[in-house]
Formats: sequence, structure tokens, C-alpha cells
Amino acid sequence: MKITAVNTHLLSAKLSQPFAYSRARYDTRTAMLVEIVTDQGLVGWGECYGPARITKAVVEELGQMLIGEDALRSEFLWQELYARLRDHGQKGVVIQGLSGIDIALWDLRGKYFGVPTYQLLGGATRTEVQAYATGLYRRDSGDPLHYLCEEAAGYIEQGFQAMKLKVGFGVREDAAVTRAIRNTIGEDAALMIDANHAYDAIAAIRLGREVEELDIGWFEEPVPPEDLAGYRAVKAAIDIPVAGGECEFTRYGFREVLTQQAMDIIQPDICAAGGLSECKKIADMAQAFGVRVNPHVWGSGIGIAASLQWMATVPTHTPTSLQPVQPLLEFDQTEHPIRQAIIAEPIVQQKGWVQIPNGPGLGIEINRDA
Ligand code: CA
Repeated sequence: MKITAVNTHLLSAKLSQPFAYSRARYDTRTAMLVEIVTDQGLVGWGECYGPARITKAVVEELGQMLIGEDALRSEFLWQELYARLRDHGQKGVVIQGLSGIDIALWDLRGKYFGVPTYQLLGGATRTEVQAYATGLYRRDSGDPLHYLCEEAAGYIEQGFQAMKLKVGFGVREDAAVTRAIRNTIGEDAALMIDANHAYDAIAAIRLGREVEELDIGWFEEPVPPEDLAGYRAVKAAIDIPVAGGECEFTRYGFREVLTQQAMDIIQPDICAAGGLSECKKIADMAQAFGVRVNPHVWGSGIGIAASLQWMATVPTHTPTSLQPVQPLLEFDQTEHPIRQAIIAEPIVQQKGWVQIPNGPGLGIEINRDA
């Protein structure tokens, strides 16, 4: 199955209501999609996380190398593409571009053999995953203590049993908001917090100690991704599992995170860390280090579907037993006009659970009209 074209699709949509987290404000959502066409009429789809215009350029650069290659040699091609830009892009947008290509090749592989991609990654450990709602962002106006609690109550009403709150707006304010959300959702729902690396270790530890008693599932990106010593300090000081990794890349980057014992939970993004090929390796490495894997997911239906294919195969967190702890799906609930529009069948949660698509490849059909 020879590759005949590598196309990029840069989509963009304005939001009806801008939203903000600790470091930026969004008024537009974008998606950078990769479409790989073959001489057998099969087409594979992937998605790149990150700044869309730059990942588009990366995919166009790397895509030229793929014309005429056998699409089923994805492991070999990954190495070739990585080596091509190794001297200039071992992390960041280059690997995000490579990720979209790799996902499209795995979509093609599944379609070629007529099975879901997870079947070719070793088969499904699970057929559905529990999802947590990502939302609870800041708005341009209104009292966050009021509108965030209202939003959190809405997720419980929709069936979610877990959600993640954005923090990083000052320790005192974060602690007050976290407490208010816990009071709103009750003791049974899981609550995680995410600082998007707004803090240094001193501030992160202060916040961690303030909210420890609120049964926080994990504290995500307390400090900048480069500061693994800071991660270790936070991890040692607080009784909340420390998570991170959406800004880390490839087996080489995660090797440092794991050998330095910097995180309790790693969160590779399949559309950023190197695609399905690489995230499979990262998850296996994490298991050897006794570290949990919960993917970071922030994209269109293609990125979600690819994450689900991978999550079908991620090892259970605790060893196989009657009730092992399972990985959780990050399910972005913020406005994203592209997310479900580009896939024929929406990916939805029911009572907080999402079924893993079981059609060929990523298990989704693309709606080209959108
Ligand atoms: Ca995050």
C-alpha cells in the first residue's frame, strides 16, 4: 500500500464565548488534520496538537519523504522522519507534526486489515473508558465562584463522576474555588486540579497543602515542564498525586521523567508525544516504573478517537485483579465547533463512560463537508 499524497487541513472556528486558563485566553479553536492517501484508495487521518500553522509546515516538510513509501512500515517511517529533523526538533512542534502522520498511518493500517487499530496494538484491555470532564475555565465576566460551581453541577447532572478544575490564579483564590467546587459536587465525584505550570515549586506546595484535605485526584502541571526537580519537590511535599507530561515528547523525554521519578501520573498527548507508535512505548515504560498513564486529550474527534484506540490498550494502573484502577479519558467539554462536526458519528459519554469505537482503523468516518 503505497503513499501517494500527504494532505494537511487547517481548520479554525470562532468561539461564541472566549475562555481562559492560567496562561492564555482563547477566542478561536483550531485543528490541524493530516490526511494520507494511498494507491489502494484507502485514506488515513491524523491530528497534530500544537500551533496549527507550524505543525502544518512540519507535516508538509516531512510528508514529501513519504511519497511512494509503504504505509504499513510505520515503525520504520517514524524512525526516518524523526532522524530527518532530529538535530532541530527532538521536542515540540516537530514531534507534534510527526504525531499526526503516525496516527494517520495507524488509521490506514487498521483499515487495510479491516480491524480497529487497537486490535493491531495487541488487542483491547477494555472496550469503554470512564471520562472526566475538562472544563471549569475562566470567563471574561462574572464571579468564578458562582459560574464555576454552576458548571460543575451541570457535569454531575450530565452523568460525569469526575472533572478537572483550572487553577493557577493565585494560591488563595485557587484554594477558595477548589473548596467551593468540592462542596458543590459532593464527596463521591472525583476532582482534579490543573495549574498549566503557572507556579514554581514554592507556590505549588502551598496550594497543594491548602487543598490536600479536599481529596484531589491529582495536581496537574504544578510547575514548568523543564523543572523536573520542581516536580520532585512538589511530589515529596504534598499528599496529592502529581501529574504532568502534556508538554513532554517521545520515549526519550519520558525516559527522563520516569528515571527521575518526577511524576506519579504521566499524561502524554497522542497528537503531540509521537503518535500511537510512541505512546504505546511510553505507556509500557511507565508500567515498568510503576507510574500511571492518563492521556492528555485536547483536539477534534480524530484526536479523541486516536486516544481511545490507544486507551483500549493502556495497562491497568494497579495490577490485574478483580477491581484494578483503570486509566481515565480526558473529555474536553469546552466549546469546540470542529470537535464533533468533522466526524459522522459523535463520540459521546453516557453516565460518564465512553465506548471505544470498534470500526476499522480509528473507528470514525470523516465528514468532509464540515
Ligand atoms: Ca492540562
